[in-house]
Amino acid sequence: MNGGINKKVCSFCGKDSKQVREMIKGLRPDAFICHQCVEVCFGMLHIKDNIFAPKTQTNARASTSVSSKKYEDIPTPKEMKEVLDKYIVGQDAAKIGVVVAAYNHYKRLNSRNNTDDVEIEKSNILLLGPTGTGKTLIAQTMAKVLKVPFAIADATVLTEAGYVGEDVENILVRLLNAADGDIAKAQHGIVYIDEFDKISRKSENSSITRDVSGEGVQQALLKILEGTLSHIPPQGGRKHPEQKLLEINTRDILFICGGAFVGIEEIIKKRTTRSGMGFTGKVIDKDSAQFSDLLHLCEPDDLTRFGIIPELIGRIPAIYALDHLSKEMLMKILLEPKNSIVKQYKKLFEIDGVKLSFEQETLDKIVEIAEEKKTGARGLRSVLEMALIPIMYELPSRKDIAEVVITKEVITQKCEPKYISAKKAKAS
Ligand code: ADP
Repeated sequence: MNGGINKKVCSFCGKDSKQVREMIKGLRPDAFICHQCVEVCFGMLHIKDNIFAPKTQTNARASTSVSSKKYEDIPTPKEMKEVLDKYIVGQDAAKIGVVVAAYNHYKRLNSRNNTDDVEIEKSNILLLGPTGTGKTLIAQTMAKVLKVPFAIADATVLTEAGYVGEDVENILVRLLNAADGDIAKAQHGIVYIDEFDKISRKSENSSITRDVSGEGVQQALLKILEGTLSHIPPQGGRKHPEQKLLEINTRDILFICGGAFVGIEEIIKKRTTRSGMGFTGKVIDKDSAQFSDLLHLCEPDDLTRFGIIPELIGRIPAIYALDHLSKEMLMKILLEPKNSIVKQYKKLFEIDGVKLSFEQETLDKIVEIAEEKKTGARGLRSVLEMALIPIMYELPSRKDIAEVVITKEVITQKCEPKYISAKKAKAS
């Protein structure tokens, strides 16, 4: 006990009133907090939630001036694409589309100060393509190139405000967190909305029951995509009446939406066949090159038929399709990008002083299995990880190993790899 109920002891740090300048009493007779703990808590809330208006405003002002300077020297579309090329294999049409849209977007922010009346409209982006083909990676890398905050939102968990699920505004909470609570920075960030196709209206006819995950969400998204003053609870979750809310203007946030849009190929096929462009008859596998070819022909009308409301499509005028990943592309993804999976694992082994190598037929097998999985490049990582985990478990306890060679059998039959001892490696 701390000397009975009369002794004032801070319930947070345990110091008594003699050790601190101020001690504040709580409602319970034994509850106290010292001035030092108050200051610490105040600081934590400042950093975490930005809930104190004076600091928020200073922050916002400071960053606005910094960011408007930054966009003066925004890289050219070609320079941006060169960086994207280091991380993303293929997907040239989508990459070029995205860099041009992003370039125009940030140029538009700079043109705000011009005195003429031409206001350049925001151009959000839609990426169509099978899973694991690089949609998120393009958006993420773009944010890195531009050095702006980036957040990913999953459209499938979004619902209209008041329904079970996440309010659409929570997307902005995530962006604000990525901007370390700096509202001005967040207002110039990039948001990637994944699974955008999953919020399509379920039918062309409206029903008596509300379409919680469909049109309602699209309407809510429409507002933030076109630009609105959004009021968000600092820590996310549901808003409630007495809560202090933060104001975020979404006018300058670049939204990149992505989705596989399974089924849209039939809509495009019907349209193009009618117009004599030639995709006839048979059902198309969504993981085939033909599926991607059709996606490249996608037009706003196809998206309306798919169940996206025309107003929302109007706010996403830049539509780009990603290509199906062929075996050659998968092999390149495995080996070539700056932080390719193979390079990452090699580095991990290197830290333990071990060389990691792969026989060519092993790499071919990894690509073959990944292609069968139909999860795009995601399959590459899972195949490799499954094979390497037992080895990474074993290796740190075997100090004599200088090199590990991954053979095809490691992948297909879970066999041991070829371990080359330090002595043997020296001798050869
Ligand atoms: P999605 O299209 O489903 O958004 P992602 O961008 O999340 O796919 O890709 C999943 C993973 O696969 C990424 O982390 C990345 O490592 C890899 N990947 C996918 N496509 C490519 C590509 N074209 N070039 C390089 N890596 C890729």
